[in-house]
Amino acid sequence: MALSKKRRRQLQAKLDKLYDYRHYADDDIAVREVKPYGVGVFAQRQFLPAELVMEVQGQLIPQDRYDGSSYVMEMDSEWYLEPAIPAAFVNHSCSPNCELVQLTKTTMALVAICNIEAESQLTFDYGWEAADWIPECACQARNCRGWVVDKSQVKKMKKLAKRRSKSESA
Ligand SMILES: [Zn+2]
Repeated sequence: MALSKKRRRQLQAKLDKLYDYRHYADDDIAVREVKPYGVGVFAQRQFLPAELVMEVQGQLIPQDRYDGSSYVMEMDSEWYLEPAIPAAFVNHSCSPNCELVQLTKTTMALVAICNIEAESQLTFDYGWEAADWIPECACQARNCRGWVVDKSQVKKMKKLAKRRSKSESA
């Protein structure tokens, strides 16, 4: 039987209290609440440029059998990596302090691309393609693109958003 909304809320609260999936912390990084995203991942110490911030592990899925969720990372031309916690909680920024590279045959690396002070939120550029479901960006960077899309996709996204607002007001 499908969960009612009310029961789902109650069980999620119980799950959060008992198992605390959303609260990961080690000496390097920690998952913390952040508005308006829900949660984000923060540096617990300083990271220097080019330093490994975390190894991104997760579920490897062949690209030919999967459309890809919105959070999936492209490993290479054949495989997607669906990141596990805590990497799954790293937010997008239009002015990121990290980037994602392939590290081993089965994992990726989040690498510092500038100096990162302790307590800073860790971010990378999702580089998504323009699409109808793309959310507005809340990164608050000075060069924010307005939507969570790749630099090359901003024009296309503006067109899509115009169409979307027209159909919503109609
Ligand atoms: Zn932004």
